[in-house]
Amino acid sequence: MAPKDVKFIDDSIKTDNDDMTTEKIVYKPRIQWSNVAVNLFIHFGSLVGVYHMLTLQPKWQTYIWFLIVTVLCNLSVCIGVHRLWSHRSFKAVRKLRLLLLFFYTMAGQSSVYNWVKVHRVHHKFAETEKDPLNFRRGFFFAHVGWYCLTFHPECEKEMKRIDMKDIEADKDIMFQYNNYEILFFIFNIMLPVLTPCYFWNESLWISFWVCFVTRFAINFTQLNFTNSANHFIGRRPYDKGQSATDNLAMVFFSFGEGYHNYHHVFPYDYRSGEFGDIGHYNLSAVLIDFFAKFGWVYDRKMVSSEMISRRVMKSGDGTHFLSHEEAHKNAIYGYGDKDIDPDDQEDLDNMKN
Ligand SMILES: [Zn+2]
Ligand SMILES: [Zn+2]
Repeated sequence: MAPKDVKFIDDSIKTDNDDMTTEKIVYKPRIQWSNVAVNLFIHFGSLVGVYHMLTLQPKWQTYIWFLIVTVLCNLSVCIGVHRLWSHRSFKAVRKLRLLLLFFYTMAGQSSVYNWVKVHRVHHKFAETEKDPLNFRRGFFFAHVGWYCLTFHPECEKEMKRIDMKDIEADKDIMFQYNNYEILFFIFNIMLPVLTPCYFWNESLWISFWVCFVTRFAINFTQLNFTNSANHFIGRRPYDKGQSATDNLAMVFFSFGEGYHNYHHVFPYDYRSGEFGDIGHYNLSAVLIDFFAKFGWVYDRKMVSSEMISRRVMKSGDGTHFLSHEEAHKNAIYGYGDKDIDPDDQEDLDNMKN
């Protein structure tokens, strides 16, 4: 269903002559046409960049530059604006924060301040009208539709209420917020596009489509699929009552951010998943641990395995046990196995005939 057709009954808004009556008004979201235009340009424009790349038109250095910038921008979103600033799941020294801020600004996903605000409200009120990414409004809305519509009034209220004091106290983040347009132009467009032109004489036309539009679209799509696919497709090993899912394809695509069911249950865990190693494709957690070795990261919050087990037993969908070694540690091969429970063994022996 197209989001523009969605109507919501808003109980909380009263009309002028409404005192004790329960008259309801219909909330009809308005389309933000400028955001629609940007979305169309980025998504369709990325095809131009992909065409240039598939027909081998860029210089080889441009492919490497494209790859490096795309990966670093994605990592700055996962590690920086998500795990560090939105969830405060670890602390980082200023030089690392500045590095993350640099690449995050290059990713161009709005100011840190706005990203954090939307994300915190999403976590606090997931699956309700207060959630800016409310999955109940459909896959398309959660993926990209929400950018193109005005917020639900209930959501707007929570945006104003959500605690942002830590972010407001960070002068680097507030500098980025107050100068966002010019910084977006310099870091998200000029720097990625002009570097190949200046250093290895790439064509401005090709660099624009490849290093700005396509690269931006990939970074943007990684984020959008976390908001959409990660609330629709996958398992719910930790809490089946939440829409968020664990989805291995998303884990791979987003450097460890696809353990979204876990993440919604334990948003303060810096690993954003039960396992923070490279074997589980959690590159973001591996890098956070790497920086911790040099003292650039400290005070990492982590959930104990006992806490995880308790939650799995209480509210998981049962799939946790399909994929974890410890779930099968008492498996038996057949009669005579020494791991058969003694009570079971006794019953079995009594049944022999
Ligand atoms: Zn989150
Ligand atoms: Zn979510």
